Amino acid sequence: MNEHDSERMLWLLSERGYRMAHSEEHADLILLNTCSVRYKAEHKVYSALGVFAPLKEKNPNLIIAVGGCVAQQEKRRLLSRVRHLDLVFGPDQIDELPDLVESVREGRSRLMAAEFKLGREFHLPTLLPETFALLPAGERPVTAFVAIMKGCDKFCTFCIVPFVRGREKSRHPDEIVLEVRALVENGVKEVTLLGQTVNSYHYEGVSFSELLRRLDAISGLERLRFVSPYPNDVSDDLINCMADLSSVCEQIHLPVQSGSNRILEWMRRGYTREAYLEKILKLKKRNPDISISTDFIVGFPGESEEDFEETLSLMDEVKYDSVFSFCYSSRPGTKALRLGLEEVPGEIASERLERLQALQRDYTLEKYRALVGKEAEVLVEGRSKSDVSRWTGKTRSHIVVNFDATEGVNLKGALVNVKIEKALLSNIRGVYHPEVRS
Ligand code: SF4
Repeated sequence: MNEHDSERMLWLLSERGYRMAHSEEHADLILLNTCSVRYKAEHKVYSALGVFAPLKEKNPNLIIAVGGCVAQQEKRRLLSRVRHLDLVFGPDQIDELPDLVESVREGRSRLMAAEFKLGREFHLPTLLPETFALLPAGERPVTAFVAIMKGCDKFCTFCIVPFVRGREKSRHPDEIVLEVRALVENGVKEVTLLGQTVNSYHYEGVSFSELLRRLDAISGLERLRFVSPYPNDVSDDLINCMADLSSVCEQIHLPVQSGSNRILEWMRRGYTREAYLEKILKLKKRNPDISISTDFIVGFPGESEEDFEETLSLMDEVKYDSVFSFCYSSRPGTKALRLGLEEVPGEIASERLERLQALQRDYTLEKYRALVGKEAEVLVEGRSKSDVSRWTGKTRSHIVVNFDATEGVNLKGALVNVKIEKALLSNIRGVYHPEVRS
């Protein structure tokens, strides 16, 4: 979501004539878009701001702004702690960003704007072809994010999101369809729908599944993904849509956080291990090729060795394709701090995290190795950054594929069949079979 917000800031400022500077030294506006979901990310904001202080001394006209979740959480405290900061703006003020910057530039002093907008729906101006025209043809994206809902009503006890992103709000389905259509008309082949609990989307009788059906009908949209769904809101209708709609990829990132019922209850996740596994079973039954990934928090207060082993056994049962895993990070204002549970010492949490990640590496490699010798459909996103002689793209199951092509044609945006030759830990390697589908 943050990545998408940064894109929006860039687009909005481009429309006012701003261009990306080559470095901070050449910039007359520095924007930090921030995340406060873990302490480390929040801490980084203050370090980065410290680095920018000498630039402001050299160039007093430089504007430094902080947006995103840390801005929403800290508000005026940020302005008073960082004297060279000019602007603090929350996630609900992104669309006002160009005006806010202008106000600072016109000398209306330092500004703080971080208020949630009222109401249960939200609007985003659609990115129009004019904004695409600002990009040279070769740089136009093949994949795009589209925010469909934001905020969260779930209040898991470890999570700061409802406090910094506000309550759940959904976007009008017509607005979403218009935006996806505009993206597809401008060369986008794959769209990822975004929301903190994306499948909780509902707008006046239009459910998430219904929205998928409407988007699937858009001609030229090859692939549709969504992130991150909330397990309890994975309905049978959604499972069927995933199996039946041709654009919806056979892939789901379904955050579980822990395999222990005791921990899930303390986290207030709203489901048990058994209920979660039942959803996984249904997903696999209707979509036998589905790729499943998840999030884990290790070392939540009160987590015993037995609880952690429950997490490992859940991993063994599901055999995830990949996982995102972190040590628990306490966040101000969250309920976990008031549960009176004993903290898990840092070294124990880190050791558990290492064990979990080592186990997952084996599962991921096993899955990747099973693909060697087979062909996979890859949507080509461009040249590989680590080796420009290779092309890079993703499979429908969201695996990164780097591959060599025997033909010298520009493959960006094409769907190609790649013969898989080698499995690595973070990607797979292959060679392009010269049978381009589109
Ligand atoms: S559902 Fe996700 S975003 Fe919402 S409170 Fe829980 S962890 Fe945070």
